[in-house]
Amino acid sequence: MDAIEVGVLGATGVVGQQFVSRLARHPWFRCTWLAASERSEGKSYKSVAPWKLSTPIPAGAADRIVDGCVPGRGPKVVFSGLDASVAGDIERAFAEAGHIVVSNARNFRMDPLVPLLIPEVNPDHLALIPEQRRGKGWPGAIVTNPNCSTIVLAMALAPLRRFNIRAVVVSTMQAVSGAGYPGVPSLDILGNVVPFIGGEEEKMQTETLKILGGDGGRAPYPAVVSAHTNRVPVLDGHTITVSVAFEQPPSIDALADAIRTFTGQPQDLFLPSAPQPPLVLMEAENRPQPRLDADLGGGMAVSIGRLRACPVMHARFVALGHNTVRGAAGAAILNAELMHAEGLLR
Ligand code: NAP
Repeated sequence: MDAIEVGVLGATGVVGQQFVSRLARHPWFRCTWLAASERSEGKSYKSVAPWKLSTPIPAGAADRIVDGCVPGRGPKVVFSGLDASVAGDIERAFAEAGHIVVSNARNFRMDPLVPLLIPEVNPDHLALIPEQRRGKGWPGAIVTNPNCSTIVLAMALAPLRRFNIRAVVVSTMQAVSGAGYPGVPSLDILGNVVPFIGGEEEKMQTETLKILGGDGGRAPYPAVVSAHTNRVPVLDGHTITVSVAFEQPPSIDALADAIRTFTGQPQDLFLPSAPQPPLVLMEAENRPQPRLDADLGGGMAVSIGRLRACPVMHARFVALGHNTVRGAAGAAILNAELMHAEGLLR
């Protein structure tokens, strides 16, 4: 199979670096174009990307000259790790120019014509693309992945939908890499917890219901979500604690079985980034932990532990996912893999 050429918008950022690293060893995609702001345009990638991954900067990217985010210059398929302040205009311009934009940014996630895709949970969202093209008049398309905490919550709740979830209370402990680079100042976060992340609670409360809902997300899942979001001094990996109420409370064993046996199209199709299994149910009473478990399944698995009864709601548990992998670049690449498997990228 000929590799599909792809590019990265916002290639120099924290998420952009994950894209560059993961695409350098991807069996289907070949990254031939890197773009960022005017500050980086015309310079070598290694001189403008403050490389923060523990793996080396890929040889094919280090000396590549960074381009501006100008539609028409890059390949047809572009991943976006753009800052949300600019992603809206730039991604729209790329879709208008015929590019397929596989985005991480929040700007189009709640648009009723834009898929908010987790391939294991709601692959039917891709059916929105023809409608998106008609409705927006774009020859290209935009497909999004959820916010980095929302994806952990939505994946953990997905197998529990069959028990009719009615209410969810979730508290997050979010890593500093979730705030980009240079991100939260060290004096604010070292030895501290910051109990506010702008816009994050609203994203968890709305995106989750679009993801779990029906009709391509246009019929939100009929539950209510209350989110508390906190920044903690952890490098990578967002941990969430969740309490759930159901219409008819199932047994804890039934919930455990639903989580353990959960699987989806990426696993059936053996997509290159699909973790096998997508959810890892842990028995140890003190897991999951970000330092030990964020990299499970190549950073693509969500780990769940401490599943037990809740005296206020019905059940409660802890879940963890890697925020820049399953919560960002890895999620977008898995989205593109499913799109390719469905013939949507050529
Ligand atoms: P970041 O480290 O601040 O990187 C932002 C990127 O946007 C850089 O490549 C930057 O290029 C580019 N950019 C900024 N202004 C621009 C402009 N005017 N024109 C073109 N490019 C511009 O942020 P990040 O953490 O990687 O996050 C990127 C996006 O992913 C955000 O929308 C964020 O909300 C989302 N996201 C992040 C995470 C996470 O865990 N970090 C998870 C999920 C989603 P320069 O280097 O040239 O300035």
